[in-house]
Amino acid sequence: MDQHPAPIPPLDVPALLRSRVRDVPDFPEPGVVFKDITPLLADRVAFGAVVDAVVNHHGRGTIDKVVGIEARGFILAAPIAYHFGAGFVPVRKQGKLPAATFHASYSLEYGEATLEVHTDAFTPGDRVVVVDDVLATGGTAAAAIDLVERAGAVVVGLSVLIELSFLAGRDRLPGRDVHSLLTI
Ligand code: AMP
Repeated sequence: MDQHPAPIPPLDVPALLRSRVRDVPDFPEPGVVFKDITPLLADRVAFGAVVDAVVNHHGRGTIDKVVGIEARGFILAAPIAYHFGAGFVPVRKQGKLPAATFHASYSLEYGEATLEVHTDAFTPGDRVVVVDDVLATGGTAAAAIDLVERAGAVVVGLSVLIELSFLAGRDRLPGRDVHSLLTI
């Protein structure tokens, strides 16, 4: 009788993640293909693989705070912060944070958006990773990084689950460590 259990094949993380992101055409408006991460979040292996990949990229214990960008960035950033042994800081849309804030405005395809962070969210010199679900044109990430730095922290890198490379968001973040788990 064979004493050894069958070996477990290695996990193909990019293939798993790709299979758990759903494309929703024409949402929230015609012409946009929305990257829906809810199937990935519902899959324990895929969700855990995302958290592990971001933490392994920098190393446990090397980061003081993880910033999540409202709203889907929060879902990823909170368990990543826990796994780093770091704190969590929200960057929110205008008018949501209750205490004094810094704010940064940036242009969207139509109109403008404003993000905010609490002025006292960081201890000066805190090492920070910024997390979001999708990097598209890069305006959101650039605004969030600007806010974190104005609040006195050091941005070590940006981690995103999905990078839409055809929108060249990376080009708006020169010199940054832009870490994406899936490039489309
Ligand atoms: P951008 O500022 O153009 O890089 O847009 C990034 C922000 O918009 C992120 O917070 C994403 O959650 C969201 N976003 C942009 N494009 C998409 C997309 N195709 N699918 C899902 N979310 C998107």
